[in-house]
Amino acid sequence: MMFSFHGQFFPGPPAGALRALRIASLIALSAFMLGGLLLAPMSKAQQEAAWPALELEALGRSVAPGETLRTYVDLARTFGGEAPMLDTLLVVTRGVRVGPTLCLTAGIHGDELNGVEIAHRIYKEIPGSTLAGTLIAMPAVNIQGLRTGSRYLPDRRDLNRAFPGNPQGSLASRIAHSLYQGVIRRCDVLIDLHTGSSSRTNLPQIRTDLDSPPALALARSFGVGVVLHGRGPEGSLRRAVLDAGLPAVIYEAGEPLRFQEFEIEQGVNGVRNVMVHLGMIAGDVSTARSEVYRKTSWVRAGDAIGVYLTQRQPGEYLEEGDVLGTVTDPASENSVTIVAPRKGRIIGMAVPQLVLPGYGLFHLGFDPE
Ligand SMILES: [Zn+2]
Repeated sequence: MMFSFHGQFFPGPPAGALRALRIASLIALSAFMLGGLLLAPMSKAQQEAAWPALELEALGRSVAPGETLRTYVDLARTFGGEAPMLDTLLVVTRGVRVGPTLCLTAGIHGDELNGVEIAHRIYKEIPGSTLAGTLIAMPAVNIQGLRTGSRYLPDRRDLNRAFPGNPQGSLASRIAHSLYQGVIRRCDVLIDLHTGSSSRTNLPQIRTDLDSPPALALARSFGVGVVLHGRGPEGSLRRAVLDAGLPAVIYEAGEPLRFQEFEIEQGVNGVRNVMVHLGMIAGDVSTARSEVYRKTSWVRAGDAIGVYLTQRQPGEYLEEGDVLGTVTDPASENSVTIVAPRKGRIIGMAVPQLVLPGYGLFHLGFDPE
């Protein structure tokens, strides 16, 4: 069954305000009906009785406590107006107890696959009967990019540079607007799942605004061991949600166009840790101590050109002068050795390939807190 909110705009107060209003009115009503004081504290049973259905107005659906809704959000249509181009899967699991709304997005970059499986495992393994709050998962936001193995939308734009969007803008901007208004503004917390971009791989890491205490707490609770500072580029979903005053992080792990079990497991553990931390699920947390990096920079190929080879792996610790790899021009035999400029850690790197001058080879983090 298809529900469309393509091209529509749903004005109204933000989701948090709607929810507060709804809960407040139910608290007042239940207190009144019990003949008690309006400000009487609610028992746990009363709180749970006041836990209302989540109404996804944009989708014309409500999700009852304990229920999981799987539907397709039709964000854009292709030629002829009939065939959906971005009919992306939306899974909403409504808990049976009061709690926050966590949004989990993946595949905004269509070639980044690890997050698709992370989101899948989370919504598959967590039923509403064990949940407090609401889990909203979109495992393959840019489904067209996923089908074609492309980071971009069909208009060659990066969806993650178009948030919060504009209903009169480009295709990317319209899609971003529909997603933001229809789904994202309902979130209390966002985790957006990514991998390294083309021909690069990332050590599993969280990125967020370290100057926002709730965002930093969220990043630490993920527990993957590495946290980097960054609000995200202009137009990124992370930045739009942070700008709205809510905690948002991205999880970056591995490389595009493949499923990598270690990076997926780390991501699943991290999302579960966050949900335990938020009181959404019961369980033990397994967190590594976080190394927090405010300072990172790229080591580039410089003037070197040609065959880049390396024995290094993400996560390795380096001393100043350690050899990172070589770049050799097979025509001139001119070979350049790439070395660490100072003590640091490899948090991302290019996989061996042919490189041009100035190509970013190693993303290093320095002086962790
Ligand atoms: Zn990405």
